[in-house]
Amino acid sequence: MRKIVRSAVVLALLSSPAIADHSWGDYHWARNSSSFDLQLINSTTSDWDSYVSKAANDWSSSNVMNFVEDTNGDTSSRTRRKCNAPEGMVRICNLAYGQNGWLGIAGISLDSNGHISKGYTKLNDTYFSMDYYNSDDWKQSVTCQELGHDLGLDHQDEDFNNTSLKTCMDYQDPPWPDPNQHDYEQLSTMYAHTDSYNSYAGGGDGGGSGCNAPPGKGCNKGATPDSARETGWGMSLGRRGNSEVFLRVDPDGTRHLTHVLWAVGHDQEHAH
Ligand SMILES: [Zn+2]
Ligand SMILES: [Zn+2]
Repeated sequence: MRKIVRSAVVLALLSSPAIADHSWGDYHWARNSSSFDLQLINSTTSDWDSYVSKAANDWSSSNVMNFVEDTNGDTSSRTRRKCNAPEGMVRICNLAYGQNGWLGIAGISLDSNGHISKGYTKLNDTYFSMDYYNSDDWKQSVTCQELGHDLGLDHQDEDFNNTSLKTCMDYQDPPWPDPNQHDYEQLSTMYAHTDSYNSYAGGGDGGGSGCNAPPGKGCNKGATPDSARETGWGMSLGRRGNSEVFLRVDPDGTRHLTHVLWAVGHDQEHAH
């Protein structure tokens, strides 16, 4: 009896590295305090508001961060098409972005120290208006997952056909709407240290620089005009299942990472 228990413990230890780390390349926001308030500009149309608020509240249950939702974000189609966030903030947008294959994407920009300096989430109404994806579960889960990427989280699992881990960071069908305890633990691990500056914008609306870095440290220098920043996703760093990450580097060295949730493979998998 005792022997069985012991071997079970050993197995658990052996398997733990594989499930322990679900951060997205160790990307995180810089902050010099144990918890931080991250401005989330809601630029979605009103039909997405409840999903955005729920996902923001869910992530705010973490003890390392709170989303502070700005419910008066610009909803012009021009803003929603680019979905560019001010420095130090996250913007979330929906639009019929077209049959480009993706359901949702999350993009983060990194400052010169490799900390997240801004992020965005796009939700593709072209797919969410189709019967298959037009459900509370799909909308809530993708909103939750993409905002999780904007915090630096990765998926816990990418197999649609195994047992559900009951988190929005797991590919499942039907998808799960909320984060789970492991996501909060992962955030606590990623944000256990403090940094010497903040890469998030401190309070208030209106798109201030968001950079509180000491001179010569961190944050984007602001030398690159928006037009040059919006030149696409850059090169693919590889595709795993339905997700793919792209990297673009600006002339000033600013890195932009885009996390894409492809709808196409999933459609085929579930074609009737
Ligand atoms: Zn850090
Ligand atoms: Zn994802």
